[in-house]
Amino acid sequence: MTIGIWILGDQLCQDYLAIPSGSDQCPIILIESLEYVRSRPYHQQKLVLVWSAMRHFASELKQQGHSVTYIEAEDFRSPLLDWITAHHITELRVITPLDKPFRHQIANLDLPCAITLLPNPQFLWPTDDFLQWANSRKRLLLEDFYREGRKRFNVLMQPNGKPIGHAWNFDKENRKPPKKSDPHFNPPAPLWFHPDAITQTVIEKVKTLDCPTYGKLDRFGWAVTRSQALQVLDTFIHQRLDTFGPYEDAMVTGEDTLWHSLISPYLNLGLLTPGEVIHRVESEFYARQDTDHPIAINNVEGLIRQILGWREYMRGIYEWSDADYPTLNWFNHQHPLPPFFWDASQTDLNCLHQCLDQTERLGYTHHIQRLMVLNNFALIAGISPQAIEQWFHSAYIDAYDWVMQPNVIGMGQYADGGMLASKPYAASANYINKMSDYCKSCRYDPKVRTGETACPFNYFYWDFLDRHREKLTTQGRISFILKNLDKMSAPERQQIHQSAQHWHQIHNSGQ
Ligand SMILES: Cc1cc2nc3c(=O)[nH]c(=O)nc-3n(C[C@H](O)[C@H](O)[C@H](O)COP(=O)(O)OP(=O)(O)OC[C@H]3O[C@@H](n4cnc5c(N)ncnc54)[C@H](O)[C@@H]3O)c2cc1C
Ligand code: SF4
Repeated sequence: MTIGIWILGDQLCQDYLAIPSGSDQCPIILIESLEYVRSRPYHQQKLVLVWSAMRHFASELKQQGHSVTYIEAEDFRSPLLDWITAHHITELRVITPLDKPFRHQIANLDLPCAITLLPNPQFLWPTDDFLQWANSRKRLLLEDFYREGRKRFNVLMQPNGKPIGHAWNFDKENRKPPKKSDPHFNPPAPLWFHPDAITQTVIEKVKTLDCPTYGKLDRFGWAVTRSQALQVLDTFIHQRLDTFGPYEDAMVTGEDTLWHSLISPYLNLGLLTPGEVIHRVESEFYARQDTDHPIAINNVEGLIRQILGWREYMRGIYEWSDADYPTLNWFNHQHPLPPFFWDASQTDLNCLHQCLDQTERLGYTHHIQRLMVLNNFALIAGISPQAIEQWFHSAYIDAYDWVMQPNVIGMGQYADGGMLASKPYAASANYINKMSDYCKSCRYDPKVRTGETACPFNYFYWDFLDRHREKLTTQGRISFILKNLDKMSAPERQQIHQSAQHWHQIHNSGQ
Protein backbone atom coordinates (compact mmCIF):
# COMPACT_ATOMS: atom_id res chain seq x y z
CA MET A 1 0.00 0.00 0.00
CA THR A 2 1.40 3.44 -0.96
CA ILE A 3 -0.02 6.61 0.49
CA GLY A 4 0.31 9.81 -1.54
CA ILE A 5 -0.31 13.34 -0.31
CA TRP A 6 -1.89 16.10 -2.38
CA ILE A 7 -1.24 19.58 -0.95
CA LEU A 8 -3.68 22.26 -2.10
CA GLY A 9 -2.58 25.85 -2.69
CA ASP A 10 -4.36 27.22 0.38
CA GLN A 11 -3.13 24.43 2.66
CA LEU A 12 0.54 25.31 3.11
CA CYS A 13 0.38 24.12 6.71
CA GLN A 14 3.32 23.33 8.96
CA ASP A 15 1.78 19.93 9.72
CA TYR A 16 3.03 18.76 6.31
CA LEU A 17 6.59 19.63 7.23
CA ALA A 18 6.25 17.27 10.21
CA ILE A 19 5.69 14.27 7.93
CA PRO A 20 8.70 11.96 8.27
CA SER A 21 10.97 12.00 5.24
CA GLY A 22 13.44 9.27 4.23
CA SER A 23 12.80 5.66 3.26
CA ASP A 24 9.23 5.50 4.58
CA GLN A 25 8.19 8.79 2.99
CA CYS A 26 4.96 9.35 1.06
CA PRO A 27 5.15 10.96 -2.36
CA ILE A 28 3.74 14.50 -2.31
CA ILE A 29 2.16 16.45 -5.16
CA LEU A 30 1.28 20.13 -5.63
CA ILE A 31 -0.55 21.23 -8.78
CA GLU A 32 -0.59 24.74 -10.20
CA SER A 33 -3.76 24.49 -12.26
CA LEU A 34 -5.05 26.92 -14.87
CA GLU A 35 -8.55 25.51 -14.41
CA TYR A 36 -8.71 27.54 -11.19
CA VAL A 37 -7.56 30.73 -12.91
CA ARG A 38 -10.03 30.45 -15.75
CA SER A 39 -13.01 30.36 -13.36
CA ARG A 40 -12.88 34.14 -12.72
CA PRO A 41 -10.61 37.15 -13.42
CA TYR A 42 -8.45 36.91 -10.30
CA HIS A 43 -6.30 39.75 -9.04
CA GLN A 44 -2.85 39.22 -10.55
CA GLN A 45 -1.23 39.61 -7.12
CA LYS A 46 -3.44 36.83 -5.73
CA LEU A 47 -2.18 34.47 -8.41
CA VAL A 48 1.42 35.44 -7.72
CA LEU A 49 0.90 35.05 -3.98
CA VAL A 50 -0.65 31.58 -4.17
CA TRP A 51 1.66 30.14 -6.82
CA SER A 52 4.83 31.63 -5.39
CA ALA A 53 3.90 30.44 -1.88
CA MET A 54 3.21 26.94 -3.29
CA ARG A 55 6.57 26.86 -5.09
CA HIS A 56 8.43 28.00 -1.98
CA PHE A 57 6.60 25.43 0.12
CA ALA A 58 7.43 22.63 -2.34
CA SER A 59 11.06 23.70 -2.31
CA GLU A 60 11.15 23.58 1.52
CA LEU A 61 9.68 20.07 1.46
CA LYS A 62 12.27 18.96 -1.09
CA GLN A 63 15.05 20.41 1.03
CA GLN A 64 13.80 18.27 3.89
CA GLY A 65 14.21 15.17 1.74
CA HIS A 66 10.62 14.60 0.63
CA SER A 67 9.70 13.20 -2.76
CA VAL A 68 7.80 16.16 -4.22
CA THR A 69 6.17 16.47 -7.63
CA TYR A 70 5.31 20.05 -8.64
CA ILE A 71 3.24 20.35 -11.77
CA GLU A 72 1.99 23.29 -13.83
CA ALA A 73 -1.06 21.96 -15.65
CA GLU A 74 -4.35 22.86 -17.27
CA ASP A 75 -6.48 20.81 -14.85
CA PHE A 76 -6.05 18.78 -11.65
CA ARG A 77 -7.15 15.32 -12.79
CA SER A 78 -4.62 14.53 -15.55
CA PRO A 79 -1.46 15.19 -13.51
CA LEU A 80 -3.00 13.36 -10.53
CA LEU A 81 -3.68 10.28 -12.68
CA ASP A 82 -0.11 10.23 -14.05
CA TRP A 83 1.40 10.66 -10.60
CA ILE A 84 -0.83 8.00 -9.00
CA THR A 85 0.16 5.50 -11.69
CA ALA A 86 3.87 6.37 -11.57
CA HIS A 87 4.05 5.97 -7.78
CA HIS A 88 1.58 3.04 -7.50
CA ILE A 89 -0.48 5.07 -5.06
CA THR A 90 -3.35 3.22 -3.44
CA GLU A 91 -4.56 5.92 -1.05
CA LEU A 92 -4.56 9.67 -1.71
CA ARG A 93 -4.62 11.85 1.39
CA VAL A 94 -5.66 15.47 1.29
CA ILE A 95 -6.62 17.92 4.00
CA THR A 96 -10.35 18.62 3.75
CA PRO A 97 -10.68 21.69 1.51
CA LEU A 98 -12.29 24.70 3.18
CA ASP A 99 -14.29 25.59 0.07
CA LYS A 100 -17.36 23.48 -0.64
CA PRO A 101 -17.08 23.69 -4.47
CA PHE A 102 -13.58 22.21 -4.25
CA ARG A 103 -14.77 19.44 -1.92
CA HIS A 104 -17.37 18.62 -4.53
CA GLN A 105 -14.74 18.65 -7.26
CA ILE A 106 -12.52 16.22 -5.35
CA ALA A 107 -15.44 13.89 -4.76
CA ASN A 108 -16.00 13.78 -8.54
CA LEU A 109 -12.41 13.27 -9.66
CA ASP A 110 -12.95 9.57 -10.29
CA LEU A 111 -9.40 8.52 -9.39
CA PRO A 112 -8.16 4.89 -9.37
CA CYS A 113 -7.38 4.97 -5.62
CA ALA A 114 -9.10 5.69 -2.32
CA ILE A 115 -9.27 9.33 -1.18
CA THR A 116 -8.98 10.13 2.52
CA LEU A 117 -9.90 13.62 3.71
CA LEU A 118 -7.90 14.69 6.77
CA PRO A 119 -9.14 17.20 9.38
CA ASN A 120 -8.33 20.81 8.47
CA PRO A 121 -6.03 22.56 11.01
CA GLN A 122 -6.69 26.12 9.79
CA PHE A 123 -9.32 26.93 12.45
CA LEU A 124 -9.59 26.48 16.20
CA TRP A 125 -13.18 25.29 16.25
CA PRO A 126 -13.71 21.82 14.71
CA THR A 127 -16.65 21.96 12.30
CA ASP A 128 -18.76 19.51 14.31
CA ASP A 129 -18.33 21.56 17.48
CA PHE A 130 -19.49 24.71 15.71
CA LEU A 131 -22.51 22.90 14.28
CA GLN A 132 -23.38 21.58 17.73
CA TRP A 133 -23.09 25.09 19.18
CA ALA A 134 -25.18 26.62 16.37
CA ASN A 135 -27.88 23.94 16.43
CA SER A 136 -28.37 24.44 20.15
CA ARG A 137 -29.33 28.11 19.73
CA LYS A 138 -32.45 29.98 18.73
CA ARG A 139 -30.44 32.82 17.23
CA LEU A 140 -26.83 32.98 16.09
CA LEU A 141 -25.00 35.95 17.54
CA LEU A 142 -21.31 36.66 17.07
CA GLU A 143 -21.09 38.01 20.60
CA ASP A 144 -22.34 34.74 22.16
CA PHE A 145 -20.03 32.67 19.98
CA TYR A 146 -17.05 34.86 20.73
CA ARG A 147 -17.56 34.64 24.51
CA GLU A 148 -17.89 30.89 24.20
CA GLY A 149 -14.57 30.82 22.31
CA ARG A 150 -12.83 32.98 24.91
CA LYS A 151 -13.87 30.53 27.64
CA ARG A 152 -13.30 27.39 25.62
CA PHE A 153 -9.73 28.32 24.60
CA ASN A 154 -9.03 30.28 27.78
CA VAL A 155 -8.06 33.49 26.00
CA LEU A 156 -7.88 36.77 27.96
CA MET A 157 -9.66 35.15 30.90
CA GLN A 158 -9.23 35.61 34.63
CA PRO A 159 -8.98 32.48 36.80
CA ASN A 160 -12.50 33.27 38.13
CA GLY A 161 -14.02 32.86 34.66
CA LYS A 162 -14.45 36.61 34.10
CA PRO A 163 -12.87 38.41 31.14
CA ILE A 164 -9.61 40.30 31.55
CA GLY A 165 -10.35 44.02 31.66
CA HIS A 166 -13.79 43.35 33.24
CA ALA A 167 -15.60 43.52 29.90
CA TRP A 168 -15.91 41.25 26.87
CA ASN A 169 -16.03 44.05 24.36
CA PHE A 170 -14.19 47.35 23.94
CA ASP A 171 -15.63 48.25 20.53
CA LYS A 172 -16.76 51.67 21.71
CA GLU A 173 -13.11 52.67 22.21
CA ASN A 174 -12.24 51.35 18.77
CA ARG A 175 -14.33 53.59 16.55
CA LYS A 176 -12.38 56.84 16.51
CA PRO A 177 -12.69 58.98 13.40
CA PRO A 178 -9.33 59.77 11.82
CA LYS A 179 -7.74 62.72 13.52
CA LYS A 180 -4.38 63.75 12.17
CA SER A 181 -3.96 66.22 15.05
CA ASP A 182 -3.89 63.27 17.50
CA PRO A 183 -0.19 62.71 18.38
CA HIS A 184 -0.84 58.95 18.15
CA PHE A 185 -2.08 59.30 14.58
CA ASN A 186 1.15 58.24 12.93
CA PRO A 187 0.60 54.92 11.13
CA PRO A 188 3.78 52.86 10.69
CA ALA A 189 4.84 51.79 7.20
CA PRO A 190 3.80 48.22 6.37
CA LEU A 191 6.39 45.50 5.87
CA TRP A 192 6.66 44.55 2.19
CA PHE A 193 9.17 42.17 0.58
CA HIS A 194 11.18 42.35 -2.63
CA PRO A 195 10.22 39.50 -4.97
CA ASP A 196 12.95 36.82 -5.05
CA ALA A 197 13.84 34.73 -8.12
CA ILE A 198 10.95 32.28 -7.59
CA THR A 199 8.42 35.10 -7.25
CA GLN A 200 9.89 36.90 -10.29
CA THR A 201 9.34 33.77 -12.40
CA VAL A 202 5.72 33.57 -11.26
CA ILE A 203 5.22 37.28 -11.96
CA GLU A 204 6.37 36.70 -15.55
CA LYS A 205 3.99 33.75 -15.89
CA VAL A 206 1.03 35.76 -14.59
CA LYS A 207 1.83 38.70 -16.86
CA THR A 208 1.63 36.45 -19.91
CA LEU A 209 -1.47 34.41 -18.98
CA ASP A 210 -3.94 34.02 -21.82
CA CYS A 211 -7.01 34.61 -19.66
CA PRO A 212 -8.63 37.71 -18.13
CA THR A 213 -7.20 38.92 -14.82
CA TYR A 214 -7.71 42.00 -12.63
CA GLY A 215 -5.56 44.53 -10.80
CA LYS A 216 -2.01 45.78 -11.05
CA LEU A 217 1.23 43.87 -10.67
CA ASP A 218 3.86 46.57 -10.90
CA ARG A 219 4.61 46.35 -7.16
CA PHE A 220 4.27 42.98 -5.45
CA GLY A 221 5.33 42.94 -1.80
CA TRP A 222 3.33 40.16 -0.09
CA ALA A 223 5.07 37.48 2.00
CA VAL A 224 5.38 34.14 0.19
CA THR A 225 6.93 31.93 2.90
CA ARG A 226 6.10 31.13 6.49
CA SER A 227 9.23 32.88 7.68
CA GLN A 228 8.18 36.09 5.89
CA ALA A 229 4.62 35.73 7.20
CA LEU A 230 6.07 35.44 10.72
CA GLN A 231 8.00 38.66 10.11
CA VAL A 232 4.72 40.37 9.19
CA LEU A 233 3.20 39.06 12.42
CA ASP A 234 6.23 40.24 14.44
CA THR A 235 6.06 43.67 12.84
CA PHE A 236 2.39 43.90 13.70
CA ILE A 237 2.97 42.89 17.31
CA HIS A 238 5.89 45.28 17.82
CA GLN A 239 4.80 48.26 15.75
CA ARG A 240 1.04 48.20 15.36
CA LEU A 241 -0.67 46.25 18.13
CA ASP A 242 -0.54 48.98 20.76
CA THR A 243 -2.46 51.36 18.48
CA PHE A 244 -4.52 48.76 16.60
CA GLY A 245 -7.84 49.50 18.29
CA PRO A 246 -8.76 53.19 18.29
CA TYR A 247 -8.53 53.81 14.53
CA GLU A 248 -9.64 50.34 13.44
CA ASP A 249 -12.60 51.79 11.52
CA ALA A 250 -10.91 54.93 10.16
CA MET A 251 -10.26 55.48 6.44
CA VAL A 252 -7.59 57.92 5.29
CA THR A 253 -6.45 58.88 1.79
CA GLY A 254 -2.90 57.67 1.14
CA GLU A 255 -2.87 55.40 4.23
CA ASP A 256 -3.66 51.99 2.76
CA THR A 257 -3.10 49.89 5.85
CA LEU A 258 -3.19 52.13 8.97
CA TRP A 259 -2.64 49.82 11.99
CA HIS A 260 -4.20 46.70 10.48
CA SER A 261 -2.29 43.44 10.76
CA LEU A 262 -2.24 42.41 7.05
CA ILE A 263 -2.19 38.75 8.03
CA SER A 264 -5.42 37.48 6.43
CA PRO A 265 -3.64 36.25 3.25
CA TYR A 266 -1.27 34.14 5.37
CA LEU A 267 -3.90 32.77 7.76
CA ASN A 268 -6.00 31.78 4.76
CA LEU A 269 -3.07 30.03 3.02
CA GLY A 270 -2.09 28.10 6.15
CA LEU A 271 1.26 29.91 6.54
CA LEU A 272 0.09 31.19 9.94
CA THR A 273 -2.37 29.54 12.31
CA PRO A 274 -5.05 31.40 14.26
CA GLY A 275 -3.87 29.72 17.48
CA GLU A 276 -0.32 31.03 17.19
CA VAL A 277 -1.47 34.55 16.30
CA ILE A 278 -3.78 34.70 19.31
CA HIS A 279 -1.11 33.23 21.55
CA ARG A 280 1.52 35.75 20.39
CA VAL A 281 -0.82 38.71 20.85
CA GLU A 282 -2.00 37.58 24.27
CA SER A 283 1.57 36.85 25.44
CA GLU A 284 2.72 40.30 24.36
CA PHE A 285 -0.13 41.84 26.36
CA TYR A 286 0.87 39.96 29.54
CA ALA A 287 4.61 40.54 28.99
CA ARG A 288 4.16 44.30 28.82
CA GLN A 289 1.54 44.60 31.53
CA ASP A 290 3.88 45.72 34.33
CA THR A 291 6.30 47.66 32.15
CA ASP A 292 6.50 51.38 31.27
CA HIS A 293 4.73 50.72 27.97
CA PRO A 294 1.78 48.38 28.59
CA ILE A 295 -0.68 47.65 25.79
CA ALA A 296 -4.23 48.83 26.46
CA ILE A 297 -6.76 45.99 26.53
CA ASN A 298 -8.94 47.50 23.78
CA ASN A 299 -6.14 46.89 21.24
CA VAL A 300 -5.54 43.29 22.23
CA GLU A 301 -9.19 42.35 22.68
CA GLY A 302 -10.00 44.13 19.39
CA LEU A 303 -7.56 41.96 17.43
CA ILE A 304 -8.46 38.74 19.22
CA ARG A 305 -12.17 39.40 18.58
CA GLN A 306 -11.40 39.53 14.83
CA ILE A 307 -9.69 36.15 14.79
CA LEU A 308 -11.23 34.11 17.60
CA GLY A 309 -14.59 35.78 16.98
CA TRP A 310 -15.27 36.89 13.42
CA ARG A 311 -12.95 34.61 11.46
CA GLU A 312 -14.03 31.44 13.27
CA TYR A 313 -17.68 32.51 13.23
CA MET A 314 -17.75 33.22 9.49
CA ARG A 315 -16.22 29.87 8.69
CA GLY A 316 -18.66 28.13 11.04
CA ILE A 317 -21.62 29.87 9.39
CA TYR A 318 -20.31 28.76 6.00
CA GLU A 319 -20.37 25.14 7.18
CA TRP A 320 -23.74 25.51 8.90
CA SER A 321 -25.56 27.20 6.01
CA ASP A 322 -27.52 25.33 3.35
CA ALA A 323 -26.27 24.62 -0.16
CA ASP A 324 -28.42 27.42 -1.61
CA TYR A 325 -26.80 30.11 0.59
CA PRO A 326 -24.74 31.58 -2.31
CA THR A 327 -27.95 32.18 -4.29
CA LEU A 328 -29.90 34.00 -1.57
CA ASN A 329 -31.27 37.45 -2.40
CA TRP A 330 -33.62 38.60 0.39
CA PHE A 331 -34.10 42.11 -1.04
CA ASN A 332 -34.37 40.77 -4.60
CA HIS A 333 -31.69 43.17 -5.82
CA GLN A 334 -31.08 42.74 -9.54
CA HIS A 335 -28.99 45.66 -10.80
CA PRO A 336 -25.75 44.66 -12.56
CA LEU A 337 -22.38 45.64 -11.12
CA PRO A 338 -21.37 49.06 -12.49
CA PRO A 339 -18.32 48.69 -14.80
CA PHE A 340 -16.25 51.09 -12.67
CA PHE A 341 -15.81 48.31 -10.08
CA TRP A 342 -13.30 46.88 -12.58
CA ASP A 343 -11.68 50.26 -13.30
CA ALA A 344 -11.41 52.78 -10.48
CA SER A 345 -10.63 55.63 -12.84
CA GLN A 346 -14.20 55.51 -14.13
CA THR A 347 -15.93 56.72 -10.96
CA ASP A 348 -16.12 60.26 -9.61
CA LEU A 349 -17.42 59.15 -6.19
CA ASN A 350 -14.19 59.76 -4.29
CA CYS A 351 -14.73 57.13 -1.56
CA LEU A 352 -15.37 54.44 -4.17
CA HIS A 353 -12.50 55.69 -6.26
CA GLN A 354 -10.06 55.52 -3.32
CA CYS A 355 -11.11 52.03 -2.21
CA LEU A 356 -11.23 50.63 -5.75
CA ASP A 357 -7.89 52.17 -6.65
CA GLN A 358 -6.33 50.63 -3.54
CA THR A 359 -7.87 47.26 -4.40
CA GLU A 360 -6.33 47.45 -7.88
CA ARG A 361 -2.91 48.31 -6.45
CA LEU A 362 -2.86 45.81 -3.55
CA GLY A 363 -5.79 43.37 -3.68
CA TYR A 364 -6.37 44.65 -0.15
CA THR A 365 -8.48 47.19 1.70
CA HIS A 366 -9.31 46.98 5.36
CA HIS A 367 -12.58 45.81 6.82
CA ILE A 368 -14.50 49.10 6.94
CA GLN A 369 -13.55 50.03 3.39
CA ARG A 370 -14.89 46.63 2.30
CA LEU A 371 -18.04 46.80 4.41
CA MET A 372 -19.08 50.43 4.69
CA VAL A 373 -17.92 51.77 1.33
CA LEU A 374 -17.89 49.03 -1.32
CA ASN A 375 -20.51 46.64 0.10
CA ASN A 376 -22.67 49.41 1.44
CA PHE A 377 -22.79 51.02 -1.98
CA ALA A 378 -23.78 47.75 -3.65
CA LEU A 379 -26.44 47.13 -1.01
CA ILE A 380 -28.15 50.52 -1.10
CA ALA A 381 -27.86 50.81 -4.90
CA GLY A 382 -29.67 47.45 -5.24
CA ILE A 383 -26.88 45.57 -7.03
CA SER A 384 -27.24 41.80 -7.27
CA PRO A 385 -25.58 40.14 -4.22
CA GLN A 386 -24.16 37.46 -6.48
CA ALA A 387 -22.58 40.07 -8.80
CA ILE A 388 -20.85 41.87 -5.93
CA GLU A 389 -19.78 38.56 -4.37
CA GLN A 390 -18.18 37.53 -7.67
CA TRP A 391 -16.34 40.84 -7.81
CA PHE A 392 -15.00 40.53 -4.24
CA HIS A 393 -13.90 36.98 -4.91
CA SER A 394 -11.94 38.12 -7.96
CA ALA A 395 -10.52 41.29 -6.49
CA TYR A 396 -9.17 40.39 -3.04
CA ILE A 397 -5.87 38.79 -2.16
CA ASP A 398 -7.43 36.87 0.78
CA ALA A 399 -10.71 35.79 -0.89
CA TYR A 400 -11.97 32.20 -0.81
CA ASP A 401 -15.47 30.78 -1.02
CA TRP A 402 -15.68 30.04 2.75
CA VAL A 403 -14.97 33.67 3.65
CA MET A 404 -16.76 35.32 0.72
CA GLN A 405 -20.20 33.80 1.19
CA PRO A 406 -20.78 34.82 4.81
CA ASN A 407 -19.01 38.19 4.52
CA VAL A 408 -20.59 39.37 1.28
CA ILE A 409 -23.88 37.46 0.92
CA GLY A 410 -24.53 37.54 4.69
CA MET A 411 -22.88 40.48 6.37
CA GLY A 412 -22.46 42.88 3.46
CA GLN A 413 -25.64 42.30 1.48
CA TYR A 414 -28.00 40.89 4.13
CA ALA A 415 -29.12 38.57 1.33
CA ASP A 416 -29.72 35.81 3.90
CA GLY A 417 -32.40 37.90 5.62
CA GLY A 418 -30.42 38.26 8.84
CA MET A 419 -29.01 34.80 9.59
CA LEU A 420 -25.73 36.27 10.80
CA ALA A 421 -26.08 40.06 10.93
CA SER A 422 -28.58 41.72 13.25
CA LYS A 423 -29.24 44.54 10.77
CA PRO A 424 -28.27 45.48 7.22
CA TYR A 425 -25.00 47.45 7.10
CA ALA A 426 -26.58 50.31 5.15
CA ALA A 427 -25.38 53.88 5.66
CA SER A 428 -25.59 57.30 4.05
CA ALA A 429 -22.67 59.64 3.32
CA ASN A 430 -22.85 60.73 6.94
CA TYR A 431 -20.94 57.63 8.10
CA ILE A 432 -18.26 57.91 5.41
CA ASN A 433 -17.85 61.62 6.09
CA LYS A 434 -17.39 60.94 9.79
CA MET A 435 -14.99 58.00 9.47
CA SER A 436 -12.84 59.15 6.53
CA ASP A 437 -11.33 62.17 4.83
CA TYR A 438 -12.71 61.09 1.45
CA CYS A 439 -15.58 63.57 1.28
CA LYS A 440 -13.28 66.57 1.56
CA SER A 441 -11.92 65.95 -1.93
CA CYS A 442 -15.13 64.80 -3.56
CA ARG A 443 -17.22 66.61 -6.15
CA TYR A 444 -20.39 65.53 -4.28
CA ASP A 445 -21.72 67.05 -1.07
CA PRO A 446 -22.13 64.51 1.76
CA LYS A 447 -24.80 66.67 3.39
CA VAL A 448 -27.06 66.96 0.33
CA ARG A 449 -29.76 64.40 -0.58
CA THR A 450 -31.19 65.71 -3.83
CA GLY A 451 -30.08 67.84 -6.77
CA GLU A 452 -26.91 68.21 -8.81
CA THR A 453 -24.41 68.06 -5.95
CA ALA A 454 -26.21 65.39 -3.91
CA CYS A 455 -24.03 62.50 -2.79
CA PRO A 456 -25.32 59.27 -4.40
CA PHE A 457 -24.84 57.48 -1.07
CA ASN A 458 -27.59 59.75 0.31
CA TYR A 459 -30.29 59.23 -2.29
CA PHE A 460 -29.49 55.52 -2.58
CA TYR A 461 -29.66 55.14 1.20
CA TRP A 462 -33.05 56.79 1.60
CA ASP A 463 -34.39 55.09 -1.51
CA PHE A 464 -33.21 51.72 -0.10
CA LEU A 465 -35.11 52.36 3.14
CA ASP A 466 -38.19 53.48 1.25
CA ARG A 467 -38.17 50.56 -1.21
CA HIS A 468 -37.76 47.98 1.55
CA ARG A 469 -39.75 49.66 4.29
CA GLU A 470 -42.00 46.66 4.81
CA LYS A 471 -39.15 44.20 5.26
CA LEU A 472 -37.13 46.60 7.38
CA THR A 473 -39.88 47.36 9.88
CA THR A 474 -39.40 43.84 11.21
CA GLN A 475 -35.70 44.59 11.88
CA GLY A 476 -35.74 46.15 15.34
CA ARG A 477 -32.35 47.83 15.04
CA ILE A 478 -33.23 49.77 11.90
CA SER A 479 -36.92 50.52 12.39
CA PHE A 480 -36.24 53.72 14.34
CA ILE A 481 -34.44 55.15 11.28
CA LEU A 482 -37.62 54.65 9.28
CA LYS A 483 -39.19 57.33 11.45
CA ASN A 484 -36.80 59.85 9.83
CA LEU A 485 -37.99 58.66 6.45
CA ASP A 486 -41.56 59.35 7.53
CA LYS A 487 -40.62 62.94 8.28
CA MET A 488 -39.65 63.51 4.64
CA SER A 489 -42.20 65.06 2.30
CA ALA A 490 -43.68 62.92 -0.48
CA PRO A 491 -42.13 65.14 -3.23
CA GLU A 492 -38.67 64.76 -1.66
CA ARG A 493 -39.05 60.99 -1.48
CA GLN A 494 -40.13 61.01 -5.11
CA GLN A 495 -37.11 63.10 -6.08
CA ILE A 496 -34.80 60.74 -4.20
CA HIS A 497 -36.28 57.78 -6.03
CA GLN A 498 -35.87 59.49 -9.39
CA SER A 499 -32.23 60.35 -8.65
CA ALA A 500 -31.53 56.69 -7.85
CA GLN A 501 -33.26 55.52 -11.04
CA HIS A 502 -31.46 58.12 -13.11
CA TRP A 503 -28.07 57.04 -11.73
CA HIS A 504 -28.69 53.45 -12.82
CA GLN A 505 -29.85 54.56 -16.29
CA ILE A 506 -26.60 56.46 -16.81
CA HIS A 507 -24.28 53.82 -15.38
CA ASN A 508 -25.84 50.78 -16.95
CA SER A 509 -26.60 52.24 -20.35
CA GLY A 510 -23.35 50.90 -21.82
CA GLN A 511 -23.92 47.29 -20.65
C1 LIG B 1 -17.41 42.50 2.34
C2 LIG B 1 -16.28 41.87 3.05
C3 LIG B 1 -15.45 41.01 2.38
C4 LIG B 1 -14.41 40.39 3.07
N1 LIG B 1 -13.62 39.52 2.39
C5 LIG B 1 -12.66 38.85 3.06
C6 LIG B 1 -11.86 37.90 2.38
O1 LIG B 1 -12.00 37.68 1.20
N2 LIG B 1 -10.92 37.24 3.10
C7 LIG B 1 -10.71 37.48 4.43
O2 LIG B 1 -9.86 36.84 5.03
N3 LIG B 1 -11.46 38.37 5.08
C8 LIG B 1 -12.42 39.07 4.43
N4 LIG B 1 -13.16 39.99 5.10
C9 LIG B 1 -12.90 40.23 6.51
C10 LIG B 1 -11.87 41.37 6.79
O3 LIG B 1 -12.25 42.52 6.09
C11 LIG B 1 -10.47 40.95 6.38
O4 LIG B 1 -10.15 39.72 6.99
C12 LIG B 1 -9.44 41.98 6.85
O5 LIG B 1 -9.74 43.23 6.29
C13 LIG B 1 -8.05 41.50 6.44
O6 LIG B 1 -7.10 42.49 6.73
P1 LIG B 1 -6.13 42.39 8.00
O7 LIG B 1 -5.46 41.07 7.98
O8 LIG B 1 -5.27 43.60 7.96
O9 LIG B 1 -7.18 42.43 9.16
P2 LIG B 1 -7.22 42.99 10.68
O10 LIG B 1 -8.14 44.15 10.70
O11 LIG B 1 -5.83 43.21 11.16
O12 LIG B 1 -7.92 41.79 11.43
C14 LIG B 1 -7.21 40.63 11.86
C15 LIG B 1 -7.74 39.36 11.25
O13 LIG B 1 -9.07 39.09 11.66
C16 LIG B 1 -9.68 38.21 10.71
N5 LIG B 1 -11.02 38.72 10.38
C17 LIG B 1 -11.57 39.87 10.82
N6 LIG B 1 -12.84 39.98 10.39
C18 LIG B 1 -13.09 38.88 9.65
C19 LIG B 1 -14.23 38.42 8.95
N7 LIG B 1 -15.36 39.13 8.91
N8 LIG B 1 -14.13 37.26 8.29
C20 LIG B 1 -13.00 36.53 8.31
N9 LIG B 1 -11.89 36.92 8.98
C21 LIG B 1 -11.94 38.08 9.65
C22 LIG B 1 -8.77 38.18 9.49
O14 LIG B 1 -8.10 36.94 9.48
C23 LIG B 1 -7.78 39.31 9.75
O15 LIG B 1 -6.50 39.04 9.22
C24 LIG B 1 -14.21 40.64 4.44
C25 LIG B 1 -15.06 41.51 5.10
C26 LIG B 1 -16.10 42.11 4.43
C27 LIG B 1 -17.01 43.00 5.16
S1 SF4 C 1 -19.43 62.86 -0.75
FE1 SF4 C 1 -20.43 60.91 -1.05
S2 SF4 C 1 -19.46 60.01 -2.85
FE2 SF4 C 1 -18.15 61.67 -2.14
S3 SF4 C 1 -16.67 60.68 -0.82
FE3 SF4 C 1 -18.33 61.40 0.50
S4 SF4 C 1 -19.70 59.64 0.66
FE4 SF4 C 1 -18.37 59.24 -1.07
